[in-house]
Amino acid sequence: MAAPAHDPSTTAPALRPATLAVTVGRPPHDPDQPLNVPITMTSTYGATGDLEYGRFGNPTWSAFEETLGALEGGRALAFSSGMAAVTTILDLVGTGGSVIAPRHAYNGSVGALADAESRGRLRATLVDTTDTAAVVAALRGDEDVALLWLESPTNPALEIADIPALCAAARELGIRVVVDNTFATPLLQQPLALGADIVVHSATKYIAGHSDVLMGAIVVADDEVYGALKGRRDLAGAVPGPFETWLALRGLRTLHVRLERAAANAVELARRLADHPAVAEVRYPGFGAIVAPVLAGGADAGDFLVRATSLWVHATSLGGVESTFERRRRWKVEPATIPEGLVRLSVGIEDVEDLWTDLKQALDRIDA
Ligand SMILES: *Cc1c(COP(=O)(O)O)cnc(C)c1O
Repeated sequence: MAAPAHDPSTTAPALRPATLAVTVGRPPHDPDQPLNVPITMTSTYGATGDLEYGRFGNPTWSAFEETLGALEGGRALAFSSGMAAVTTILDLVGTGGSVIAPRHAYNGSVGALADAESRGRLRATLVDTTDTAAVVAALRGDEDVALLWLESPTNPALEIADIPALCAAARELGIRVVVDNTFATPLLQQPLALGADIVVHSATKYIAGHSDVLMGAIVVADDEVYGALKGRRDLAGAVPGPFETWLALRGLRTLHVRLERAAANAVELARRLADHPAVAEVRYPGFGAIVAPVLAGGADAGDFLVRATSLWVHATSLGGVESTFERRRRWKVEPATIPEGLVRLSVGIEDVEDLWTDLKQALDRIDA
């Protein structure tokens, strides 16, 4: 039987993120212990222990959760997808409660809010989260607000919210704050330290990092909120498979090196794209590895670009080692305030010169 995984609470204050990513959640350094936590394939456990049943816990989940929790500075829970994590958090809002959320949040999150609203579960108000004063006014103007949902940077508009200021305003009003930290990852932004109550991730993206697994996660600081979310997971059953979780943990081990290369590539591509005549505007928040050029030629130019490359893969999703892109308005659910010519680039870890050569030859052929 594998020994209990490493306790992150003894290492979190002293060690830096790259060390935590590599070392937390491993078996003890003892003779014959594996270096990696095993994939525990079981639906049940010998009775009267702490685990009991496969929907309540799994040692492979624990290793992933300890590692992500150490990086975010809280307690983590693994879910079967980012959306399973998102909807679990929304379940905490009491019936009739109100949620303030970004108008340009991930369209699945906006869709989940609209779905809950259509069933009379809650009310959703979509706001421009770059306008701090407007968000604070929305929080103050509705006494039923239970949750402020933030996503920063937003997907795909790459807008930034003032997380510390909004958390401070929400705290005064007793409103919980959730931050979708999928784009920034815990290496570039730690929302709990900025005052947020709950962090949510699509671990499908940077955390797993290889476009081969769907997973989500929630991280919280407060034990009571942790208990409520764990209770929802136990009941609703949106749990990940042990193999998926093992892959996500394997991905998390290299997040810092993948992100460093991808972000360096993104900075360079953002700079070169801004000088290309086919590009009207480049959205890049200055960190991370998502770049969103808006093509001067609109939808037609975007649709041409995504068919005219050989390295860049035309595919949705993001955060893998390989570079992918798509014109976001090809999705009918994407709001009209996202420009037709916006192409979201998920910059990978290939050689940046090859990535640019491939993009440039396609951009050069767009009819002006
Ligand atoms: C992809 C994504 C989600 C949803 O995650 P899944 O793993 O696809 O269910 C949520 N938020 C953001 C910002 C995303 O990019």
